Amino acid sequence: MPDRTTAVALFSIIAAIGLGLLALTGAVSATLAAPVAAVLCLLGGYLFGRMAGAPTQSGETHMPANQAAPGLDALVVEEIGEGVLTLDDQGRIRRANDAAAQLLGQSAPALKGLALTDLIEEGADPVLDGAGYPISSGRTVLKRAGSDPVPVAFSCVAPEPGRPEATAVILRSLANEDRSKKRIRYLARYDSLTRVANRMEFQHRLQQAIARARRNGTRLALLYVDIDRFKDVNDRFGHLVGDRSLEIMARRIVDFLEDSDLVGRLAGDEFAVLIEGLPADSQARAGLAGTSRMLLDRIANEFHVERQEIFLTASIGVACFPDDGDNVIDLIRNADAAMYHAKKAGGNTYGFYAADMNADAVDRLMLKSELRRAMERDEFLVLYQPKVDLRDGRIAGAEALLRWSHPKRGDVPPGKFIPLAEEGSLIFEIGEWVLNRVCSDYLGWQTRLAWPGRVAVNLSLKQLRQRDFVQRIEATFEKHRLTPSCVELEITESTLMDDGEKTLHMLDRLYELGLHLSIDDFGTGYSSLSALQHFPIGTLKIDQSFVQDAGENSESRTIVTTIINMGRSLNMDVVAEGVETREQLEILRRHGCTYGQGHLFGAALTATEYRDLLLRQQRGERPDEGLFA
Ligand code: C2E
Ligand code: MG
Ligand code: MG
Repeated sequence: MPDRTTAVALFSIIAAIGLGLLALTGAVSATLAAPVAAVLCLLGGYLFGRMAGAPTQSGETHMPANQAAPGLDALVVEEIGEGVLTLDDQGRIRRANDAAAQLLGQSAPALKGLALTDLIEEGADPVLDGAGYPISSGRTVLKRAGSDPVPVAFSCVAPEPGRPEATAVILRSLANEDRSKKRIRYLARYDSLTRVANRMEFQHRLQQAIARARRNGTRLALLYVDIDRFKDVNDRFGHLVGDRSLEIMARRIVDFLEDSDLVGRLAGDEFAVLIEGLPADSQARAGLAGTSRMLLDRIANEFHVERQEIFLTASIGVACFPDDGDNVIDLIRNADAAMYHAKKAGGNTYGFYAADMNADAVDRLMLKSELRRAMERDEFLVLYQPKVDLRDGRIAGAEALLRWSHPKRGDVPPGKFIPLAEEGSLIFEIGEWVLNRVCSDYLGWQTRLAWPGRVAVNLSLKQLRQRDFVQRIEATFEKHRLTPSCVELEITESTLMDDGEKTLHMLDRLYELGLHLSIDDFGTGYSSLSALQHFPIGTLKIDQSFVQDAGENSESRTIVTTIINMGRSLNMDVVAEGVETREQLEILRRHGCTYGQGHLFGAALTATEYRDLLLRQQRGERPDEGLFA
């Protein structure tokens, strides 16, 4: 039947071109049009090929029809990757390829003879119109044996328009597309690590909850949950363990709460909980206090990640609508302020927002701007706290402690302004100022003293992270013509563990300059003996909290003696900070601690006072003789 074949072939190619044009104009989706056009082109090409190679009278063919015809035909239909159904004039399936069978969850033979309309989900768009004619293209939903229905895009090809028989329906599943759209929607709203609402989503839902509460005249509470010292986990165990710990924390919070409460992750280790439908004030407060305490206890249970035992606590701040804020921003800010207070109280506790907490925040801002001016107005001062040799009471050096004497506020403690300076770049200027001050004081002492001892200067992590820090330090010593070995740099234990590799490199270079390095507040972090060995550290300073408790608390005493022994085995000096009583001094001496600092030996001194003290010592006087008899 060469005529019919020619017509079909021509139609196929024209249809393919037509489809391409439709795709270009956007009438049919390009992803669907392309494979359909490909099928049609192949079909047309094949049929033309068949015509060209039609059996001759002698029976010769270019390609034996019995091999090529069903093979290629089937191949095209199978390989196209789309579901293809051919229908008879009653709209029943004549043939289904593997992809169609898979799409419909039935085998190809089982599909044969089924009416296409019966396979369409109720209410979904039809593929054949009321008269049984194919609709050129569209979307519908097909029933799928044994599972959920599948959304599909379809396109019908009828070789002879106006006749419903021999229609091919090409189907492409949209399930994946829907899934990825859903996934994208999910990712935009939920935190991928902890699977709780992200900040945007949380704020959005909080806003809706506030609107509901306002309409219904009800109250709601926002709990701001922040993990205490979470950075230490990352520093000590690495970010993978840190991430896993956050997942566990999030799961604990979610599991503890009612289904109706919303949990969100606002930032790194900060979570928020929204509790709606609270009763009247006093009851609500008691209830929230109980909830917060129980949640904190739940969080504080130890857990294991990669065979590491981890123990974390959190701080919670509570703010309520409408009393503590009537909009999203105020509620979050005030719950955060309450959390910050709970954290300052030592962590593992909760607190309710109070109006003066924001006054605190405003005060912080004021202080920060005044700090900028303090440098120009020469309001800083360095005091020296003597470091005493506990074997004989001799002064072996000092620690430089920065003071800010504010014209109106009086003395502002460094614990209050150093963190503010660290928030910006001011800490660089302040740090440099302190080192210059120490160098020039030291040179002054050297004119009268044979050996003023070694002076320790406190460093911030941020300073150590400055790219040209070593060069700057070197230049300062050169400028003053002071030997770097007169100075010791103190870095805190957490600084040491922050990005160990980088720190190690930096410390090695400082050590090569001749500087002595010590670890401040030792015992409060997580550093291990093996980690310590890598760093060129000469001194461990036992944190004053352990020293001060050593008298009464046997656990603190054990920590103190362990650090002393640790220092000895690593060949390091050990300095006990904050020695206040004779009892503490006795414990330290008994366990062989070499040096101590603290109010027991006197307050921090001005440069002149320190020089005079050393002059007396040089003359043979013993300032603390009574203590070391
Ligand atoms: P730190 O380096 O651990 O300094 C020891 C702190 O303990 C000092 O507080 C000191 O005055 C105080 N202290 C000394 N002996 C006793 C004692 O017997 N009992 C009690 N209760 N406290 C004692 P300060 O001067 O307020 O400094 C606090 C922190 O501020 C320092 O802790 C240090 O981390 C930081 N800091 C001080 N000066 C500087 C500085 O120049 N640069 C940087 N980056 N930080 C500094
Ligand atoms: Mg210190
Ligand atoms: Mg300290």
